[in-house]
Amino acid sequence: MMSTDPEEKTSNINNSLRVDFHCHTTCSDGHLSPKEIIDRATNYQIDQIAITDHDTVNAISLAQDYIDQQQFNIRLVSGIEFSTLWQNFEIHVLGLNIDCNNPELLALIAKQQEGREQRAILMAEKLTKAGFENCYQDAKDLAQGGSITRSHFARVLFNRGVVSTLQKAFDKYIGKGNRAYVKPLWCSLEEAIEVINKAGGRSVIAHPKKYDLSAKWLRRLIVDFKDANGNGMEVVSGQRNDQQRDFLIELCHEYQLEASVGSDFHFPNRWSDLGKHLALPENTPVVWQHWN
Ligand code: AMP
Ligand code: MN
Ligand code: MN
Ligand code: MN
Repeated sequence: MMSTDPEEKTSNINNSLRVDFHCHTTCSDGHLSPKEIIDRATNYQIDQIAITDHDTVNAISLAQDYIDQQQFNIRLVSGIEFSTLWQNFEIHVLGLNIDCNNPELLALIAKQQEGREQRAILMAEKLTKAGFENCYQDAKDLAQGGSITRSHFARVLFNRGVVSTLQKAFDKYIGKGNRAYVKPLWCSLEEAIEVINKAGGRSVIAHPKKYDLSAKWLRRLIVDFKDANGNGMEVVSGQRNDQQRDFLIELCHEYQLEASVGSDFHFPNRWSDLGKHLALPENTPVVWQHWN
């Protein structure tokens, strides 16, 4: 068992680096622009940040140009969060330190964007049947040319007063099993990993606790992920839960996965923020060893 001693020495590289390898901008469903994310990360004295928008890398060059122009002392790790289908679960796979110009990567992004568009149209048809018209156009306006996501539909329903929280939009309408849910056309887990590898990046299972997988199913996912040459797993994702973290670190040791950490930050709120609560025990093999 891992030590649960609160005085346990923790670090992200020699107790010196602050890192966050999972967050979103307005290029997908984040509320802050790439510049605003970089400003926030710089204010928090974060040393390395990965922007990992849903099925797009459009934020990366905008953020890097801004860093160069401002001469900020922060390292931007180019990233993406691919949505995949595995055994009927929507599993999110992060690609970290990828070449954003890789042709195979760009081809998969185009395919995923097409899937997003198709799903948005079908989801809007279902919402119309539920009595809410023109959700597609409103969601598209909110997305401002970025990846269109269910978060945008949730915001449309919230803004119209249909639901009192974003969570309720998922629970009542657009979450799995609800009346406006549409099965998405995502790529397979294997395809996402293969493309990330071709783009020279490291692939990481995002927020493994968010899929409602039993321990047995999580192990199955890890086995298939490893078989497809996947590299790592997020062991801390936003919320602080040391027991979950230690369990996931144990799985990393057991399956030779590299640990990653990320806030999955979408907008300022009470529960999570960029670079917060992401420390790991010192002996953990980490995914960012590859670019340090
Ligand atoms: P999509 O990739 O379009 O299916 O949208 C998924 C995004 O919606 C996630 O990245 C979250 O930001 C958000 N999301 C998913 N499920 C929920 C939920 N139950 N409550 C609130 N937000 C959610
Ligand atoms: Mn999201
Ligand atoms: Mn995700
Ligand atoms: Mn995310």
